[in-house]
Amino acid sequence: MAERTLRGARLGGQSFEDERGIEFAARQQVGYRCPQAHEFEITMSVEADVPAVWECPRCGAEALSVSGIVPEVKAEKPARTHWDMLLERRSEKELEDILKERLELLRGGEIGPAHLHRANQKKAKKVS
Ligand SMILES: [Zn+2]
Repeated sequence: MAERTLRGARLGGQSFEDERGIEFAARQQVGYRCPQAHEFEITMSVEADVPAVWECPRCGAEALSVSGIVPEVKAEKPARTHWDMLLERRSEKELEDILKERLELLRGGEIGPAHLHRANQKKAKKVS
């Protein structure tokens, strides 16, 4: 879209130079509308990546672009959870095996908080 706007401006012979010969970047007005129905426009370079949301100058809420740019397009990495990272290293089957193994050790009093498994071992000895 930005490219087309620029090309059109050149074809029309419109100059972006002011009286001092400084060249302005082509501009565009981007409309936003916040959840409270406040509408406003932000002037941006046509080369700028138009943000999907802009802070409303009246209430500070996140206003959505009225030109149909959806927030999902925004380059935002999906949050990687600890579970995702774990699955990159182990399959669910492997994790299940490890869990089973650790549970057996835990129940057998081999691992776990010292005060817990030592106490249990003593009790188990007394009972038997
Ligand atoms: Zn607002």
